[in-house]
Amino acid sequence: MNVTLLRPWDFHFHPRRGLIMTNVLPFTTRIFAGGVPMPNPKPEILSGHDWQVYLPELQKAGDNPDFRLIGSMKVIDNTTPDMINEAVKCGVEVFKFYPVGTTTGSQTGVSNFYAIFRILHRIHELGKIASFHCELPDIHRRQAEVMFIPTLQDIVDAFPGLRVIVEHASTKDMIEFVQSCPLNVVATLTPQHMWHTYEDVIAEDDITLIDPNNYCKPICNSYADRSAVIMAAISGDPHFFFGSDSAPHYLTMKKGTEVSDVAAGVFNAPVALPVVLQVFETHHALDKLNPFLSVNGLNFYHMKPTPGKLTMIKKSWQVPYEHGGIGLWLGGQTLNWQVGPIT
Ligand SMILES: [Zn+2]
Repeated sequence: MNVTLLRPWDFHFHPRRGLIMTNVLPFTTRIFAGGVPMPNPKPEILSGHDWQVYLPELQKAGDNPDFRLIGSMKVIDNTTPDMINEAVKCGVEVFKFYPVGTTTGSQTGVSNFYAIFRILHRIHELGKIASFHCELPDIHRRQAEVMFIPTLQDIVDAFPGLRVIVEHASTKDMIEFVQSCPLNVVATLTPQHMWHTYEDVIAEDDITLIDPNNYCKPICNSYADRSAVIMAAISGDPHFFFGSDSAPHYLTMKKGTEVSDVAAGVFNAPVALPVVLQVFETHHALDKLNPFLSVNGLNFYHMKPTPGKLTMIKKSWQVPYEHGGIGLWLGGQTLNWQVGPIT
């Protein structure tokens, strides 16, 4: 069996920088029509100028001139409204907010969201996108996303019409929050949050990792949370679209048995689409793949559909354990779908 799709987009991925980028980025650029690279490689993308330096690096490593890149920049406490103007002139569309101390690369970020309202005001004025990693620091990993909802509610209330992306929504409460908002507030959803629950990631002692390659932030949470993510994805609701959050780390960063020793992030670019197909097929929703993988996201970004088609082939295969020293998500497991030809 084959399924032919509109060209999919990955609206949230981490291509990194340097050698690791050369290793991982072609997995994304070969399959997807375009995407949004997150601005937290080392060094980070903190200005329009930084984006202008990063863009040709991405183009070179991606090795596909047709792959379309949407510019992003990270907002930190020191970001000024003038820097937002300058970034927009340099092609930045997405301004990403990480609360300090919540995930990979968030040693810098925003320490008080109420102190950066003038930044949000400028992004709103310019019609650009505010994208949020929604977790509060210093809160148990299972509650961190839900505890961010009041802050998000305040932002949405303060700036009606502001284009907001809740990145990698992982909980039932967050899904319901996004559903309750008008369509200027949307969420990306990942394959791992449709696949795992907390029990697949962390052992009963709440410290030991079951598989470091399953560990991401926000964490895969309860059965009810996973169901809510799946139902949102297969609903066709324009609030929800695909962002893999593919976040490669070398195996050396994934060594260790305790959650505090291991970098958060799942390298899923080689398996993301096969997993999404499998989930949608299980839920009799293959007809909802196009809204989720391309239409909804492109509409939110005010972009036209990308020409061409991608065919997915139903044929089982075993996921390799690693690529170039990077552990693959679901390494060793058998998946039912493979990426086929682009026409
Ligand atoms: Zn991410």
